[in-house]
Amino acid sequence: MTKITVAKGDGIGPEIMDATLDIILAAGAQIEIEEIEVGEKVYLAGNTAGIAKESWDIIRRNKVFLKAPITTPQGGGYKSLNVTTRKFLGLYSNVRPCMSLHPFVKTKHPLMDVVIIRENEEDLYAGIEHQQTDEVVQCLKLISRPGCEKIVRYAFEYARQYGRKKVTCFTKDNIMKQTDGLFHQVFDEIAVEYPDIENEHWIIDIGAAKMADTPEAFDVIVMPNLYGDVLSDVAAQIAGSVGLAGSANIGESCAMFEAIHGSAPRRAGQNLANPSGLLQGAIMMLNHLGQTEVAEKVQNAWLRTIEDGIHTYDVYKEDVSKQKVGTKEFAAAVIANLGQQPQQLAAVSYAKGKPLQLPRYQRKKPANKELMGIDLFVHWPGTNPDELANLMKELEVEEVKLKMITNRGIKVWPEGFEETFCTDHWRCRYQSQQGKFIKNDTITLLINAMKHEIDVVKTENLYAFDGKPAFSLGQGQ
Ligand code: NAD
Repeated sequence: MTKITVAKGDGIGPEIMDATLDIILAAGAQIEIEEIEVGEKVYLAGNTAGIAKESWDIIRRNKVFLKAPITTPQGGGYKSLNVTTRKFLGLYSNVRPCMSLHPFVKTKHPLMDVVIIRENEEDLYAGIEHQQTDEVVQCLKLISRPGCEKIVRYAFEYARQYGRKKVTCFTKDNIMKQTDGLFHQVFDEIAVEYPDIENEHWIIDIGAAKMADTPEAFDVIVMPNLYGDVLSDVAAQIAGSVGLAGSANIGESCAMFEAIHGSAPRRAGQNLANPSGLLQGAIMMLNHLGQTEVAEKVQNAWLRTIEDGIHTYDVYKEDVSKQKVGTKEFAAAVIANLGQQPQQLAAVSYAKGKPLQLPRYQRKKPANKELMGIDLFVHWPGTNPDELANLMKELEVEEVKLKMITNRGIKVWPEGFEETFCTDHWRCRYQSQQGKFIKNDTITLLINAMKHEIDVVKTENLYAFDGKPAFSLGQGQ
């Protein structure tokens, strides 16, 4: 018997959670339930996080959390509980299977069976944003080697455990050579450890187009956070309905399972909602707990029920459905089908076994890190880059010279184009003629900037790691 934490959530949450628990308990799930309250009531009682401290203690103690959707009240500085939970508990991996149920649920892609594995903690979601000038704001895109290694390894281990043939990586490393470049590089490094699984990389734009058009070309797709956020909804929608998909958020010690849809407040309390999304989350939870036989039994009974044409309003279509049912009746039909296999849809068979166990991240030997220069970002209201270059040259320190100025990444000095549009946010790169640059040079440059009333809004060190420059050039440099 494993103790799990359950939150029934808001809107349709309590109805779909009751249906889900009824089904998995009827199938023999060995779980003991500890319920906590999260969401709207907690928010409105003045807790802007939507969760009490005691509830965190319970979640951390039980480690496995089955969560129904919650309503985040509009305005008032309420923080999304989902994002907070992922970050606090280190739930680095988001897994979302998107499978079509043709011909029982309408879809343009009858053969689709894709699992999106999304990095869940890093990327632009680190939430580090600043306004730097009147005209320019920035968001830091942070990608780490441990983050990449953990998610890529998870994708390959998942593929192996579930008998998947191929793992595809989506990035935009032709543009973001450092951040997406690292993700792609780590993918290539780890792929060689899994010779039994095919691997490939697509640039995200054409990859996304291909996925929307020919999803059957893909099996497991792993990607950084932002791309995964967007594409996992696209994948769920084109598979048939966002109402049918569940997701798992997995960390090194804790895990959270849920439906991908929200609390659908307009449908609440009417016995209308489809519990399938949350049920899919619960099936992933059972697999995670090693209760694979129960998971298999529930999934096959659910597939059979969909095949039988017993559908809730959201998937009901006159030509394929046989009976329009409510939440409770749908759950009863799945329970009645426990032990049955689907006839047309492929029955699932989950490998007996342990939950995925990934090796802990091992920090590598540090590289030889060498300072090569500095970028000073300045707020300057002028428009002529040559004029700014003359000002910035005044800051030069002996061998340390102004090398380049860019505006929004595009080189505007030396030899810029008049046509390039410039904002009030400029990057001025300083490097030494001899290649030597010391931290003191930065201090001297900043003092000189202050003397000349130059508004430096940020600095960024330029490093080489093991002799390899590790910073981007200006566009056109
Ligand atoms: P939603 O997913 O709740 O609803 C979108 C549409 O899908 C609605 O028409 C709804 O009726 C329908 N729908 C969703 N789930 C269904 C189900 N199980 N059965 C039948 N129909 C279903 O999205 P929304 O309306 O944008 O958001 C409502 C609330 O949910 C908001 O407060 C939002 O913050 C919250 N939300 C929570 C989560 C979560 O807790 N994981 C995720 C998304 C949105």
